[in-house]
Amino acid sequence: MYPAPFHYHRAESLEGAISLLAELGDSARALAGGQTLLVWMKLRFDEPQHLVDVSRIPGLSEIRQQAGDEVCIGALATHAEIARSAIAEALPNVLDCGSGIADAQIRSRGTIGGALGSADPSCDWPTLLHTFDAVLTCTGPEGTRTIPVSELVEDIYTTILKPAELITEIRFKIPPENSGGAYCGFKRCAPAYPTASAGVQLTLEDDICSAIRIALGSAGLTTITSQEAEAVLQGNPLTEANIDKATEAIVAAADPVPDQRGSEDFKRAVLRTLVKRAIDIAGRRCHGEIIKGHHEYV
Ligand SMILES: Cc1cc2nc3c(=O)[nH]c(=O)nc-3n(C[C@H](O)[C@H](O)[C@H](O)COP(=O)(O)OP(=O)(O)OC[C@H]3O[C@@H](n4cnc5c(N)ncnc54)[C@H](O)[C@@H]3O)c2cc1C
Repeated sequence: MYPAPFHYHRAESLEGAISLLAELGDSARALAGGQTLLVWMKLRFDEPQHLVDVSRIPGLSEIRQQAGDEVCIGALATHAEIARSAIAEALPNVLDCGSGIADAQIRSRGTIGGALGSADPSCDWPTLLHTFDAVLTCTGPEGTRTIPVSELVEDIYTTILKPAELITEIRFKIPPENSGGAYCGFKRCAPAYPTASAGVQLTLEDDICSAIRIALGSAGLTTITSQEAEAVLQGNPLTEANIDKATEAIVAAADPVPDQRGSEDFKRAVLRTLVKRAIDIAGRRCHGEIIKGHHEYV
């Protein structure tokens, strides 16, 4: 289906984009890579009268590591740019995530800011970014503020961003040396969203888990986390019994929606496998093992 007619505007600067979005109000949407928004428009799921193209605003796609071991990713960085960055070389779970998103065409257009802004629980970056406790820099008519990634989404497809407010940068700390992360997804085929996904980031000290984050994607209306699951592993060794208990706790917190990708029971079974696999890969990566973690295709 074709989208409803709309006016196209190209923003040359962040300030210009924000003032145009503020002026056009609810009839306008920011357009980044268009890999979600244009699909929604074709399905008539959204019918904006104005698109403000932010994709060519200079300076918003840089990927860098700065003082204090902080990673900064511009909101307009594409999935492909992140997957081939030095950050993905240093953090294999960033590579797992970025290289597994859809297909090459979508990866070269879609942006990390758009994935966050869409508040789609099937998108991979938000799930991974929860495991890094990432913080988002957002700028709007009232200025700039930071939002923890865990607070961005209030409901499916709905963020807490104010009108005309844009995500400009994503920041998180590089984990300490004895850390490892993994991101595993299960997909029907490349150009399809995951049926389910799991991200894990952990730190081991003398084989005791001193820090742990677990997050699930495509497992409910928003990204799923569970303090109960993390508490099972925090301060304890990664024994089979502990991993089983933590897995059951986070899978219980999930609320997968049955759809063409599978029934609720099927998705819970997939999540169980993915969480255990991600903990195993993350634990082995803590010990320096080089493991190709990637999405599993049916
Ligand atoms: C067939 C198909 C398969 C896909 N498979 C996957 C997959 O496996 N995994 C996955 O993660 N994704 C998948 N995607 C989605 C894809 O990754 C999108 O690129 C991404 O979700 C949105 O990024 P975008 O830059 O295209 O955003 P757009 O489509 O341009 O925008 C999406 C929404 O975010 C808003 N927005 C854009 N930029 C910002 C910003 N900087 N600040 C605030 N709001 C903003 C827009 O206004 C819009 O509401 C798939 C898409 C398709 C079409």
